[in-house]
Amino acid sequence: MNPPANPAAPSGRETAVPGMTDAADAPDAGERRPRPVRHVHRDVATAPFIVIWEATRACPLACLHCRAEARPDRDPGELTTAEAVGLMRQITSFGRSAPLFVITGGDPFERPDLYDLVRRARELGLSPSVSPSATPALTADSLTRLRQAGTNVISLSLDGATAARHDDFRGFGGVFGRTLDAWQRAREAGLKVQINTTVTRTNLMDLPDIARLIRDRGALLWSLFLLVPTGRGRNLTSLTAAETEDVLNFAYDIGAAVPVKATEAHHFRRVAIQRHILHERGADHVAALGLGPLYRSLRRRAVRSGLVRATRTRRPPIDVGAGRGLVFVSHTGEVSPSGFLPLPAGNVRERPLTEIYRASPVFTALRDPDRLTGRCGACEFRTVCGGSRSRAYATGGDVFAEEPWCSYTPGTFPYQDELAGHLGTAAGA
Ligand code: SF4
Repeated sequence: MNPPANPAAPSGRETAVPGMTDAADAPDAGERRPRPVRHVHRDVATAPFIVIWEATRACPLACLHCRAEARPDRDPGELTTAEAVGLMRQITSFGRSAPLFVITGGDPFERPDLYDLVRRARELGLSPSVSPSATPALTADSLTRLRQAGTNVISLSLDGATAARHDDFRGFGGVFGRTLDAWQRAREAGLKVQINTTVTRTNLMDLPDIARLIRDRGALLWSLFLLVPTGRGRNLTSLTAAETEDVLNFAYDIGAAVPVKATEAHHFRRVAIQRHILHERGADHVAALGLGPLYRSLRRRAVRSGLVRATRTRRPPIDVGAGRGLVFVSHTGEVSPSGFLPLPAGNVRERPLTEIYRASPVFTALRDPDRLTGRCGACEFRTVCGGSRSRAYATGGDVFAEEPWCSYTPGTFPYQDELAGHLGTAAGA
């Protein structure tokens, strides 16, 4: 292993770029570094890694990016309690190791049977997580009941480091304070908390401050969601591919201080592999990856907050994607490869989830990397990345088209020989 070419700048002082390396998390001599990407230990052609169920579309908030275009009232066509329990049984029939099970919305607290559903999921051997909205329903008492029913993890949304930024995004005043309060109370109730942040042009420069909040207050995971222009998110301004690259590299930088994942940013896996190899080679990642002024600015702030110089083990991104380890079930039982990819493949009221996931043409096609076109089709990272199929579909109507928010030109990474062993296999192929 070669030592880094450029030793770390002291904490709080940024290395001049170019010439920036990852010396801050340099391994000791002889230390084994974790692999940059985690490949799931299951055949994702036969069983998903995670099932996301939209329990309801009802929600009192009006968030600017809402995929579900949530509304105040519940839809009478929602799965009933008995149907929801039937869905859980279907999930358990995928095999010995049950998929992760996420109950989302809308706001799941709009369903009066939420605690019962969590309890039933637990009894069936599932480990349910819940994604509530930050409404007045999220009290110390309701969080404690959620924990007692069998929830281990909840996720909360935080889209700004200040009340002004977050509340503007969420469409109501007071949501920021309520979110921080719920975060604290959830932890007191024994729940682990995942923080979700939708990255938009308006909150880009808040990201280091949100990361600092997460490091200081503690969270299981920070999920950076890169917008898919669907639902109300259609009206938000998109990042450019170059800006996305800068954000993903910033996310990599802080990964040893804050456990971070990227949602609908499959090329974060490509970035993780590239950064891992560049680090091993002691190479300047800014020059090698052509990072821009946004990256320099985000990194400078992250260094100032002590987010770059950290010693925790970096959490490798997991190699799953829409229909390829991930499946979404809507409030009415429609199954699609992701909540951001509205390609219905069947309904659990009519056909078992196992069958839809394993055999429907939409799902089998999405598991075949040879269907990809454009740069994704020609890319050496396609088996481990493949780009966001949801974004390709939302922006151009072609689910196999190239990822519009990726700036990588296939074949240009300078250490091609070192990619072998990091790229996994074509899932499902
Ligand atoms: S071109 Fe496509 S497959 Fe290659 S890294 Fe970008 S998004 Fe991933």
